[in-house]
Amino acid sequence: MKKAIVFGGARSGNAVVRLLLAQDYEIIWADDSSLNIESDIDLTHVTIFEHGIPLTLRDARVDIVVKNPGIPDYHPVVAWLAQRYFIYNEVDVAFLYAKQFQYAAITGTNGKTTTVSLLHHLLSDEEIPNYVAGNIGLPLSTIAYEHKDEKANIALELSSFQIDGLLFFKPNVATILNLSPDHIDRYLGEKRYYDSKFRLLTNMDNNSIFLRNIDDQEIMKRARYLKSQIIDFSVTQKADLYLENDKVFYKDRFLFDTNDLLVKGVHNIQNAMVAVMMASLLGVSLENIQNKLKTFKGVIHRLEHVDTIDGISFFNDSKATNPESTVTALNSFDQPVILLAGGSNKNITYDLLTFYQSKIKELVVFGETAPLLKKLFEDAIEVENLTQAFNKAVELAQEGDVILLSPASASFDQYQNFEQRGLEFIELVNNLKK
Ligand code: ADP
Repeated sequence: MKKAIVFGGARSGNAVVRLLLAQDYEIIWADDSSLNIESDIDLTHVTIFEHGIPLTLRDARVDIVVKNPGIPDYHPVVAWLAQRYFIYNEVDVAFLYAKQFQYAAITGTNGKTTTVSLLHHLLSDEEIPNYVAGNIGLPLSTIAYEHKDEKANIALELSSFQIDGLLFFKPNVATILNLSPDHIDRYLGEKRYYDSKFRLLTNMDNNSIFLRNIDDQEIMKRARYLKSQIIDFSVTQKADLYLENDKVFYKDRFLFDTNDLLVKGVHNIQNAMVAVMMASLLGVSLENIQNKLKTFKGVIHRLEHVDTIDGISFFNDSKATNPESTVTALNSFDQPVILLAGGSNKNITYDLLTFYQSKIKELVVFGETAPLLKKLFEDAIEVENLTQAFNKAVELAQEGDVILLSPASASFDQYQNFEQRGLEFIELVNNLKK
């Protein structure tokens, strides 16, 4: 039997173990914390070490070593094994066993989930099956395990943590939507965070296509000498794929009218350009693309239109956990905006928001970062929590206004995650109607 070591449990750990067992591997499965083993996994050929990876594994002789991104490269056992083995991550293992898939990979600081969801929507109901995987949806290993011999299109969302460990993965088409500071706490600096995203391009050659956002300076600094084919895109200037008078063209061929989009903002036009181009490259007809675009409602918690009550529109953008996302949301509205912002402190600066003061009619701040925001915006109203912020906003709002939850901060000071925060906002809106 072939032998594997898998470091790390959780969803992707379980998925890769399932896939390797199906390939007749005997597995050593270890983690410094709990593996959270899923009940359907047959452990007959698995040796388990939980709550401590034994140092003796340094000397193990195996065929493949797999590590999930949660376990650091400098872990004493991992670092030791790295001298003798490639350290695979879960995406690479899946790729190894499912090379017949066509991969459209999407990364970037913001817009990944929206773009991947739209791509998934555009690929749906076609003859070739399609699956959404990676950071949203299922781990790629699960798709590879369940559909190993099938031809399929994969819309793959990759976070920088997943890209960090990539060695072999080669997408057919890929993009980095944009680069702006986030997760700096883990990367100790912008440069490393930006650079890490470019690992996605390492194996791309002349048979693969990179969609390059020429509006993004950080991308342009790094994506100059590429081995892949390139399609340049822009929402501000003429490029291979471009926007002109509400219409999107590829090499002067009309693709779609932005007025057909239900999602708001220039950023969503950009997301749609990428998803449409990818769907087209994966073989979906323009007619099908144009029809399906009209029915994409966006993704919950991402500038989601919750309701309009008495002429006041409520938007839930709880997913906006950094200032750039909040700016994007503000730029999506021509109407006066009452902004609800604040949350947990990621040691980022909010200075950027001050440039958009004119877009904000009233600012109500809450949570851990409220005092930081209040320092920058003297007139901000500081309250303790979202409910108070919401009530204050409703009190101040007039017909025609937008009440926007776009916190520019993570949610962990008061919530388990941004979804919980967004759901509370939706409930507050729904309660208004009662
Ligand atoms: P991700 O999955 O990368 O976190 P999402 O699609 O969940 O991104 O969107 C998160 C937020 O990022 C949105 O609410 C929006 O404010 C902002 N955003 C979405 N698309 C873009 C884009 N193309 N450029 C800049 N910001 C964007």
